[in-house]
Amino acid sequence: MKALLIEDTLTSATLVSHQLRKMGITPLLARDGETGIELFQKEHPDLVLLDIIMPGLDGFEVARRIRQLEKEGEWTPIIFLTARTGDEDLEKAIAVGGDDYLIKPVSEIVLAAKVRAMQRIAQMRYSLLVLTRKLDDANQELVRLSSLDGLTGIPNRRQFDETLTREWRRACRQGRPLSMLLCDVDHFKQFNDGYGHQVGDECLRAVARALQAVLRRPADMVARYGGEEFAAILPDTDPGGALRVAEAMRAAVEALRITHRHSGTDLGVVSISAGVATRVPARSQSDSAELVRQADEALYKAKQGGRNRVAAASLRPAI
Ligand code: GH3
Ligand code: MG
Ligand code: MG
Ligand code: MG
Repeated sequence: MKALLIEDTLTSATLVSHQLRKMGITPLLARDGETGIELFQKEHPDLVLLDIIMPGLDGFEVARRIRQLEKEGEWTPIIFLTARTGDEDLEKAIAVGGDDYLIKPVSEIVLAAKVRAMQRIAQMRYSLLVLTRKLDDANQELVRLSSLDGLTGIPNRRQFDETLTREWRRACRQGRPLSMLLCDVDHFKQFNDGYGHQVGDECLRAVARALQAVLRRPADMVARYGGEEFAAILPDTDPGGALRVAEAMRAAVEALRITHRHSGTDLGVVSISAGVATRVPARSQSDSAELVRQADEALYKAKQGGRNRVAAASLRPAI
């Protein structure tokens, strides 16, 4: 530990330095305010002991400048050590940033006790800082986790809704098309009934990975929409592009070749059906629910059409 002693009177400086050394503290001596401030910046002391009456900058001004130099969250204890006994001096010393005020000559016992009290506050403050940082990290992790689906690790419904709202507004501002697609695993109830829920869960993870691997653009996202349903948002993508992505997702899931003997179809592997919708949002219409509804309608068409296929919402004029 090092203490910066800013004191112009040599006898006093020598005495206090000696006392500090006996406490196991390394004294750094400055004989005037300017030098003291320089040393403060260079040495980052753990404590400042500050005289008031000095040639050049007085102790009040030095304390004020030290407080200005400290960055947000930084604090170095400042103890005034002075011959001035007036209450107004003490009041001013605390007002400009001092933490304690001792009148010279100071007994070794008093100085040691005061230094110890400051160390204790500094230590508690440090512990609080560490704790705050840990809390910040934990909070960030919570925010991250709260946007991910626990089973598959891809974005969850909440993040999907937030992203859709944001992308809808952006598409509206930029007058660009926004596409979305809804996928649903075919005959998944029978899959669960036939192989059990754990295999069902593993299947959903594999499907999520396959869907995510199809996406190429940074702004694209696929989320777990609910149960065995997944939804993708494709900003700045026209109907043709969205259909291609949906078809690539369908093919990617089929290519997983996850056996599904209970589907009642002759395919024998897990598949998805997908519905695609595209809108160019207009300023007057600031709701994305219509887009979801259309994708859902298209998904229904794909199911009706025999499953393991993609259908697009019928094109309507921009809303
Ligand atoms: P369709 O082809 O018409 O979509 O038929 P389906 O059986 O997939 O549709 P349905 O909505 O009747 O059943 C969905 C099933 O998905 C019900 C449930 O057993 C299963 N499921 C939903 N969420 C989960 C999950 O988190 N884990 C598992 N293992 N199964 C789930
Ligand atoms: Mg002096
Ligand atoms: Mg479903
Ligand atoms: Mg289904």
